[in-house]
Amino acid sequence: MSKLVVIDHPLVAHKLSLMRNKATPSAQFRTLLREISLLLGYEVLRDLPTELRDIETPVGPTRAPFLRGKKLVFVPILRAGNGIVDGLLDLVPSARVGHIGVYRDPATLAAVEYYCKLPEDIAERLTVIVDPMLATGNSAVAAIARLKARGARDIRLVCLLAAPEGIAEVARAHPEVRVFTAALDECLNDHGYIVPGLGDAGDRLYGTK
Ligand code: URA
Repeated sequence: MSKLVVIDHPLVAHKLSLMRNKATPSAQFRTLLREISLLLGYEVLRDLPTELRDIETPVGPTRAPFLRGKKLVFVPILRAGNGIVDGLLDLVPSARVGHIGVYRDPATLAAVEYYCKLPEDIAERLTVIVDPMLATGNSAVAAIARLKARGARDIRLVCLLAAPEGIAEVARAHPEVRVFTAALDECLNDHGYIVPGLGDAGDRLYGTK
């Protein structure tokens, strides 16, 4: 569990509580997820390298920090991961976006991959995998393995809610991957849902149930 970062901030906590409320409609849920993603991204990308460059302000010359050009790729696990990517792209519009489609077999909860499209130079990029719900960890573990097989070396995982079971599974399979979450919930229920959680993140985002 040493690679876990819980982003414990009153703004994040407040927005997350609104998202947990089952009365919150999809349009507001999407907006809240985008807003929280900005706050998560701020922490996830805290150590991006910068370099000083000479510029002129209206008052005079100075050397000011700019991002040093570390290349990024955001990889949402479809479909709920898309809800986080929009916020991260607001922060880093030049980042590339890969996509990986993984669904949970409802009977076994095993991860089944159905789509994968990634930038060819992924080995040179900081890879940020995003999925709002880290439940069993099966989807995240499968996605990380796939990205590693395609050459990704520097991988972070960003979620909104995590269950202890999912954190432990990712730590077991990919101990070097840092996991960022807005909250660590209690447990999983018999259907693999996070408790207390917020329900099915994809359905809440897109109003499909
Ligand atoms: N996926 C979800 O959308 N919600 C959960 O609680 C667990 C997995």
